[in-house]
Amino acid sequence: MKAVVYNGPRDVTVKNVPDAKIERPTDVLVKITSTNICGSDLHMYEGRTDFEKGRVFGHENLGEVIEVGNAVDRIKVGDMVCLPFNIGCGFCRNCEAGLTAFCLTTNPDPKMAGAAYGFADMGPYNGGQAEYLRVPYGDFNCLKLPDDAREKETDYVMVADIFPTGWHSTELAGVKPGDTVVVYGSGPVGLMAAYSATLKDASMVMVVDRHPDRLRLAEKIGAIPIDDSKVDPVQQVMDLTQGRGADKGCECVGYQAHDPQGHEHPNMTMNNLVKSVKFTGGIGVVGVFIPQDPGSPDKLYKEGEITFDWGLCWFKGQSIKTGQANVKAYNRHLRDLIHVGKANPSFIVSHKLSLDDAPNAYQNFDARNDGWTKVVLRP
Ligand code: NAD
Ligand code: ZN
Repeated sequence: MKAVVYNGPRDVTVKNVPDAKIERPTDVLVKITSTNICGSDLHMYEGRTDFEKGRVFGHENLGEVIEVGNAVDRIKVGDMVCLPFNIGCGFCRNCEAGLTAFCLTTNPDPKMAGAAYGFADMGPYNGGQAEYLRVPYGDFNCLKLPDDAREKETDYVMVADIFPTGWHSTELAGVKPGDTVVVYGSGPVGLMAAYSATLKDASMVMVVDRHPDRLRLAEKIGAIPIDDSKVDPVQQVMDLTQGRGADKGCECVGYQAHDPQGHEHPNMTMNNLVKSVKFTGGIGVVGVFIPQDPGSPDKLYKEGEITFDWGLCWFKGQSIKTGQANVKAYNRHLRDLIHVGKANPSFIVSHKLSLDDAPNAYQNFDARNDGWTKVVLRP
């Protein structure tokens, strides 16, 4: 089958690899019809991780079931399904508690919790930027889509990751109706966080970034865009909230944050959040920060220790919650909002391309080139 394969830093190719197939009786085999490129793929694409050469990318997947293992009974051939990026077992203590991003079964590394398709350190699973995908524990991990699956495919594929992840940041922050919310980052995840806050009836949503195309999308959904290359975002949030600060804040950037001059500055967003969220406010962090690996001091991820004004955070009585999104905790709800027409997350999609266009798409998305907000590949 054709697949998008990692060759080394900033080098992907589309080539033939062995077909994905049913390996265990609980597996489901999916013919992929939509698969997104994500900001998280860029951690591996840029060579910041130990992603092995030859592995297939892709954790935001949707497609049609073409085969099921002997022990699968809920999912049927012909079902259209959206696959959460987390691979859960459904029976460990974390999955039972709804914390599927921290599954204790699917990652073979005993020091780790949680697995994903096509991801460094998240188990051996290949990704879905390919013609076919093997889905472990298919009954648990497949989200069945209604009969408008094909028509609204570009909306539904956002439910694999970034829509639930944006939603998760608002859950971690504790967003309630009427809240004022500041979102750092206007990439796909930040836009989905702002969109989620709007769906939850926030009274005001402010989005900080510097890319005009991304800030325009934030404005389109009713958020107030704040360009941090032109103004001090903390001051701007203070001015817009009568000096109190936002009730809630969402971090949707991660280690790759830049300072106003555009230099990499990973603690920028946490410092700005602590300053621009009110006393007793909540902060939800979904942007990825990777722990320092003492065994590999020259690995690019040296930012394990992020410094921010902890004293200010404590003094203000703020709460901070972090982590990967437990997609299954929200995906039915978000699927149903799309089905009834209350949510259209595909507004962020800038490009729908074939698998063969992946190398060019990676290059443009990685450079955050104007107009490249979100790419859907259609194998
Ligand atoms: P992206 O890189 O496309 O977007 C990040 C945006 O942040 C960019 O537009 C950039 O200009 C902006 N930015 C940089 N520095 C900033 C600063 N100081 N202030 C405000 N904005 C700043 O990536 P994305 O796809 O939107 O993903 C964002 C993050 O979320 C990544 O770290 C990604 O890995 C992570 N993520 C987490 C989960 C999860 O489950 N927790 C899931 C998906 C993605
Ligand atoms: Zn993703």
